[in-house]
Amino acid sequence: MESLAKLSIRTIHEKLVHREISAVEIARMHLEHIENTDQEFHAFLTVTADMALEQAALVDEKIKEGQEIPLLAGIPCAVKDAILVKGVRCTAGSKILENYIAPYDATVIARLREQGTVLVGKTNTDEFGMGTSTENSAFGATKNPHDLTRVAGGSSGGSAAAVCSGESVFALGEDTGGSIRLPASFCGVIGLKPTYGTVSRHGIIALASSLDQVGPFARNVEDAQTVFDAISGKDPLDSTSVLYRYAPLQEDINPKKIRIGVPKEFFAEGLDSQVEKVIRDMLAILEKGGAEIHEISLPNAPYALAVYYIINTSEASANLARYDAIRYGVPAQPKEAATDEKLFHVYMNNRGEKFGPEVKRRIMLGTYALSAGYYDAYYVKAQKIRTLLKQDFDRAFEKVDVIMGPTTPFLPFKLNERTADPLSMYLADLFTVPVNLAGLPALSVPAGKVGELPVGMHIIARAFGEPLLFQAGKLIENAWNF
Ligand code: GLN
Repeated sequence: MESLAKLSIRTIHEKLVHREISAVEIARMHLEHIENTDQEFHAFLTVTADMALEQAALVDEKIKEGQEIPLLAGIPCAVKDAILVKGVRCTAGSKILENYIAPYDATVIARLREQGTVLVGKTNTDEFGMGTSTENSAFGATKNPHDLTRVAGGSSGGSAAAVCSGESVFALGEDTGGSIRLPASFCGVIGLKPTYGTVSRHGIIALASSLDQVGPFARNVEDAQTVFDAISGKDPLDSTSVLYRYAPLQEDINPKKIRIGVPKEFFAEGLDSQVEKVIRDMLAILEKGGAEIHEISLPNAPYALAVYYIINTSEASANLARYDAIRYGVPAQPKEAATDEKLFHVYMNNRGEKFGPEVKRRIMLGTYALSAGYYDAYYVKAQKIRTLLKQDFDRAFEKVDVIMGPTTPFLPFKLNERTADPLSMYLADLFTVPVNLAGLPALSVPAGKVGELPVGMHIIARAFGEPLLFQAGKLIENAWNF
């Protein structure tokens, strides 16, 4: 296993094509690794061993017949448990979906299946993606493979830990306010939140529909790019998805030409000084390589967290109204519940019993923000500030190619350190939520370490600027040998 744990998708692909190893062998090695180690990390909620071996056998058959196989054929992938895989349980980290079997594939899964990707399992998440540490999962937290006393980050913490620990070559996560980039930073792997609309949301259990986006976790930037190319593109089943499919850029950026904007608002109060040092050191390395560093300002960034939590809770309260613990996998409650009054109590009891405290908190906050009389004061105002923030980014990108800063304000924290204080948990999202509010793409790339703990550099590009993100990400990857 060790020998496979660091290999890139392209290298594994070459080994498959040259028959140095079979897809079934690769699948077996990963499944065994999960079986032997996952009790330590708890990255997985469901392991799909049979499905993985079947998919791998099909790839081996194609290779035997001399057929050409796509890059992702036979490559193991772990999937956040908020993304539907036909015939497999999908819990979104919630008791209310504990027995829900997905009746169809999400579009991203259908696209990976076309490639022959091998799905090894479904990964842990904060309940409905609400959280920063997976401690809000109804099934227990995921631990950070670098330090088992610390969180892996969230909400897609299981996917990040699975890639970090070598249980999977890559993984899919979902990012509404940082849920890919933050755990990627905490676990020292690559995490991409694509431009809103580039990846279909069909078959994703929604948190906040105007912010949610699916993206990859990977071992290196090129792998993230490969997965992004496979899953992006217009989908008739998601009206917010866009037509454009990216052609990967051929030329590497000349570092002399890249103009990096560093927002002063991202280096303000609340930033851990050790995290700041790693980020500043990396910026200095890039500058030495010829990059231009410009201090910029995003004047509305300090309001982003407040705006995000109004929009997130409002949209979540609407999206989660459908879960009544009667539909979606939970056995129907008392059959005689025929009157409106009785039915109301069935809903109340089921939702009261099956939703965790963070979900209830957000449903109440969101319902309040959307209620008559408060709608203009909270929701409408938040949307107006969202537009101002978007304009801040537009102005910044007139002068710079990419924006860089820390992905998170602090290092991976200890398990249970922040659970009693939701506000301190929300603070972890300080730098990531502005990107979702503005619909932009962003990448987290390991930039260094404090002791054993990784620190991620957050790179933001203008909308549809993914190719530039990948090139900037490679500059960091090559600047430092981890
Ligand atoms: N931590 C953020 C939240 O709790 C982000 C969640 C996400 O991106 N799914 O809302």
